[in-house]
Amino acid sequence: MRYLSTRGGAIGGQEAASFSTVLLEGLAADGGLSMPEAYPQADLDAWRVLSYPALCFEIVSRFVDDIPRDALKTIIAKTYTPEHFGSADITPVRELEPGLSLLCVSNGPTLAFKDIALQLLGNLFEYVLGREGRAINILGATSGDTGSSAEYAMRGKRGIKVFMLSPHKRMSAFQQAQMYALDDPNIFNLAVEGTFDCCQDIVKEVGGDASFKQQYQLGAVNSINWARVMAQIVYYFKGYFAVTRKNGDPLDVAVPSGNFGNILAAYIAKQMGLPLRRLILATNENDVLDEFFKSGRYRPRSPEETHATSSPSMDISKASNFERYLFDCVGRNSTVLRELWAQLTQQGGFDLTEPRYQKCWQRVQASGFVSGRSTHADRLQTIRDIYQRYGVMIDPHTADGVKVGREYREVGVPLLCVETALPAKFAATIEEALGQTPPRPEVYVGIEQRPQHYTVLPADAEAVKAFMRGQLD
Ligand SMILES: *Cc1c(COP(=O)(O)O)cnc(C)c1O
Repeated sequence: MRYLSTRGGAIGGQEAASFSTVLLEGLAADGGLSMPEAYPQADLDAWRVLSYPALCFEIVSRFVDDIPRDALKTIIAKTYTPEHFGSADITPVRELEPGLSLLCVSNGPTLAFKDIALQLLGNLFEYVLGREGRAINILGATSGDTGSSAEYAMRGKRGIKVFMLSPHKRMSAFQQAQMYALDDPNIFNLAVEGTFDCCQDIVKEVGGDASFKQQYQLGAVNSINWARVMAQIVYYFKGYFAVTRKNGDPLDVAVPSGNFGNILAAYIAKQMGLPLRRLILATNENDVLDEFFKSGRYRPRSPEETHATSSPSMDISKASNFERYLFDCVGRNSTVLRELWAQLTQQGGFDLTEPRYQKCWQRVQASGFVSGRSTHADRLQTIRDIYQRYGVMIDPHTADGVKVGREYREVGVPLLCVETALPAKFAATIEEALGQTPPRPEVYVGIEQRPQHYTVLPADAEAVKAFMRGQLD
């Protein structure tokens, strides 16, 4: 399997890049994202009976051909264990009532679905770096979930150091403790005196310093990494097999979306032949993608226009993985994609209902996507309703998905709603909705009282560089 850039250029100096190149490079040199040159086709009958690791191997090995099969199998087997994910199913399905279930993908070490991909990424990174005798320093910014998932995935890994910027005193006590309680020598928590946007700007500025980037082998594990999308494809198959009786039965999935990574994996599963009917995309008050799927107009917002909501991991104005989906919708024609992206820069958006984009808009409409939006009041109401009806507590992001999913529910077609985090991570909103504190997994009880390891730095790229030099020289 070779990989192409959505913008038509080279990746890591290669016209058609290998998986390992894509894994370590992230962004293509032309600013585009890597995409597999074709979608492998599923063998549903053979796959239906497989365990999670075996299913994962079947899927991943079709996208990865430059890691020996035995090594890949070992990497997958040590990633998806009941010890890390709480059960042998890894992503169990919880039925709320006949025809309505939750796909529980948040039982990993940091209680959010990002663990599914990042735990695998950590082991893939270690293997590929070890083979090439390389080391990498991951520089990232987080407002909460991604940083902790990345740190728990990379802790103790050979050849990898993580420098994670987070906004000082602006995360929940739980999120802060989850990251700062780690004392692994390869993890550096940098509490920046500024907002999340400041942290992200610093990451961009440091990464934009080509000589610093080269000298210190900077890398990233952000949501545009192809391997993250790939790893997420697996649980859509697992969920489909768990909910349907036989292959060919239709299934609708509802996915709370931010950077469009999770639902992109569902879309790719569908392209591989998984009989998903509707891909129901839920946004919160930041509803750029809902607007797109309803109107054909794509108009990303500025950071100032992005609302801070009670489903904060979806507070995204520009969904990075959306470009991958659009690449397919323009018939994989990079020239058209670049044209659309030029309109984004020059006019702040584009409109696919214009006659010249007719074919592209038809492909969007035929792709199975539908969408809806959920507000703070909807989240509270949905959390309450699901708790009262079924005795199940769901987190605010999951509630956005359930709210929109139920609006599209149809008799005869089961609906699977993806649970993207456990309620324990977002206790304040659960308390507001239910008047009680969500239960916490044993390992996190009292985490706020543990010693914390972090360094406070001014919101200044030079200060971050100086800190990194101090650790790496
Ligand atoms: C990251 C995240 C999302 C958004 O997922 P995308 O792949 O970015 O669309 C939703 N909910 C939670 C809890 C998250 O951590």
